[in-house]
Amino acid sequence: MKITFLGTGAAEGIPSFDCHCPRCEAARERGGKEQRRRSSLLVSGADHKLLVDTPPEISNMLSRGDFSDVSAILLTHEHYDHIGGLMEFEYWCNRVLHVFAGYDVLPTLRLTPRLSTMILLSEFESHSLIVFGSLQVIPFKVMHHVPCYGFLFQEGGRKIAYYSDSGQILSEFHIRLLAEVDVAIFHTPAFEHADHHISVQELIELLQRYPTRQPVITHISHHNRKHEELVEELRPHNILVAYDGMEIEV
Ligand SMILES: [Zn+2]
Ligand SMILES: [Zn+2]
Ligand SMILES: [Zn+2]
Repeated sequence: MKITFLGTGAAEGIPSFDCHCPRCEAARERGGKEQRRRSSLLVSGADHKLLVDTPPEISNMLSRGDFSDVSAILLTHEHYDHIGGLMEFEYWCNRVLHVFAGYDVLPTLRLTPRLSTMILLSEFESHSLIVFGSLQVIPFKVMHHVPCYGFLFQEGGRKIAYYSDSGQILSEFHIRLLAEVDVAIFHTPAFEHADHHISVQELIELLQRYPTRQPVITHISHHNRKHEELVEELRPHNILVAYDGMEIEV
């Protein structure tokens, strides 16, 4: 499997408009890894490619790569930074598009009449199995202030756990997954404690108790550290800091 991080920013992205904090100014001056569009992933298996979430910048993200072979879109939850770009598919009309969302997320989606004729909506439950050839997906619920799902991707004995917008309180299932997977991806907008999401500090503490092979952080906000500072600080903990365009072979 291959993971491509299309965007790695939290709700506002970096730079956030009309913000002049040091993080946003560094992003404007230096660009590169300091800039973060809102979070989205491509997960590519042997025969299928899946897009996770459609942030507001999705059209920009996909115009660079080839979207023609994406088999389906998986949505984590209703927050704008995750689904704000769904309407962009209004003008993409090559074929019918499969969109998967939790049974309690699906009713929050807003589609235009034209989009409704192009999208096949499928609902899933936590711990159900979604199969795309040899690539399997198991959605699982995470703690957030609205219904929200992470995904376990598996193919050929390799496993990726994507914890999405998870809070700091994990279940026994979430914790045991850490020991099983090759890559564990966490959303850490803030370095220190913040509501509704696990922070970098909380993740470091968690991984000291429950190690995992390759932890990765994404969904990083302008309240967090600059990219290179995060990389330096997290190197001793073996935590990879994602940046826009980063790819990992699993
Ligand atoms: Zn988010
Ligand atoms: Zn800022
Ligand atoms: Zn959220």
